[in-house]
Amino acid sequence: MIVMKFGGTSVESAAAIERVGSIVRDRLARRPIVVVSAMGKTTNKLLSMGAAAVSGDRDAAVAQLEELRQLHLTEGRKLIANDRTADLEGTVNYLFDELGELVRGISILGELTPRASDALSSYGERLSSEIVTLAFDGMGIPAIHIDARDVIVTDDRHTQAAPLLPQTYSRLAATIPPFAAERVVVMGGFIGATEHGVTSTLGRGGSDFTAAIVGAGIGAAEIQIWTDVDGMLTADPTVMPGGYRVKTISFAEAAELAYFGAKVLHPSTVVPAIDKNIPVLILNSRRPEVEGTRIVRETSNGTAAVAKSIACKKKITLVNIVSTRMLMAHGFLRRIFEVFDRYETSVDMVATTEVSVSLTIDNPSRLKEITRELRQFSDVSVEDDQAIVCIVGENIRYTPGVASRVFRALEDVNVRMISQGASLLNLSVVVAGEDLRKAVELLHSEFFHDLDPAVFAA
Ligand code: ADP
Ligand code: ASP
Ligand code: MG
Repeated sequence: MIVMKFGGTSVESAAAIERVGSIVRDRLARRPIVVVSAMGKTTNKLLSMGAAAVSGDRDAAVAQLEELRQLHLTEGRKLIANDRTADLEGTVNYLFDELGELVRGISILGELTPRASDALSSYGERLSSEIVTLAFDGMGIPAIHIDARDVIVTDDRHTQAAPLLPQTYSRLAATIPPFAAERVVVMGGFIGATEHGVTSTLGRGGSDFTAAIVGAGIGAAEIQIWTDVDGMLTADPTVMPGGYRVKTISFAEAAELAYFGAKVLHPSTVVPAIDKNIPVLILNSRRPEVEGTRIVRETSNGTAAVAKSIACKKKITLVNIVSTRMLMAHGFLRRIFEVFDRYETSVDMVATTEVSVSLTIDNPSRLKEITRELRQFSDVSVEDDQAIVCIVGENIRYTPGVASRVFRALEDVNVRMISQGASLLNLSVVVAGEDLRKAVELLHSEFFHDLDPAVFAA
């Protein structure tokens, strides 16, 4: 068995879903389990519908809902034979009617709890997975729909729920293989349910994570992430187009890149894959003939390539904290981190000197309270619109002089902070948001001018 996950752009329209059908058909012998994201930007639209409803603008919310209903019906009808349109319309209308009641409830209460937000955003994957199942049938691919909420069991940290792996794995192992023997199992990514059956989600971009959980649960031979790029590229194409495809990369490198902003993979995706040592592939649903990127356990021994890719995180806030009295006295760092911990704000990068600490956060929603508390024992300054640029490669730790190459490449850029992670496979710098593109281009030409063809596709 293999798991094939198709992201939002890969199922955004009837034409896209037809491409998915033919990709899956070509691989039927490998007994695929198909995991799909919501169509196109549906999740964003559902959340903005919730925001409109909670602010009291029920008309706007209803208008958005109807627009989304039409998109699903129109694209769905193009895929489904006339004698099945009643099934399609029945399913889609049933889900949208339910969604309409939820939106009405949210606007009456004037409150959108994390739990209600999960109920709302779950409709994207519930719809797309039903439509893809019907479409497969229409294309002569025998398919069966499984509700992800019956198999993915999570904790109740709504909007960021974590899977409870033992329960989930045992449900997956019991449910999926018997169906997969005869048909293509189709399920929605991103969504799950708590032990009490309350709908939850794994966090934005979480369908990749679902695919990996399913792969680990059924002991798949491979987890394929089908998306809109040729694979992991040497630079984020939204910042610097024209990067090269990385042919193979280790689990650790991929996880680091994902964590530092390479949206092509959800950061948790590799965790279940590492557990069961299952290779993860990133592939392009528009160009299925391209080999993509293979993520495997083996490290990059044998190549001289220092860096595999450069990831970036935009809209980062840099917080500089200078000790007013204690000159790095005992307990200073603990007090600082206690404050961030109390406000549930995670810190990405840290650098310290004798009297000061600089750190970055990507969620500034509690920053006011945090700085107020920090100012009780330190001087604090805050710079927003910063960016982290993170060079990742297992060979960084074995190669002397990487930091000096970074500084040389960036001599014309004001570097605010630099840090070599404890994992030793990344080297990160913070630059102003406006310098991001330039910094990435300079680092890219420094580290990717002499490509090893075994690792990169030029
Ligand atoms: P999907 O909807 O298929 O899950 P995403 O939008 O979540 O797709 O992820 C794919 C996107 O990730 C690409 O279109 C690209 O803009 C972005 N991306 C960021 N960094 C990288 C990288 N290093 N390599 C490839 N894509 C990247
Ligand atoms: N549809 C969800 C999102 O947009 C999950 C995913 O696409 O992976 O975040
Ligand atoms: Mg994604």
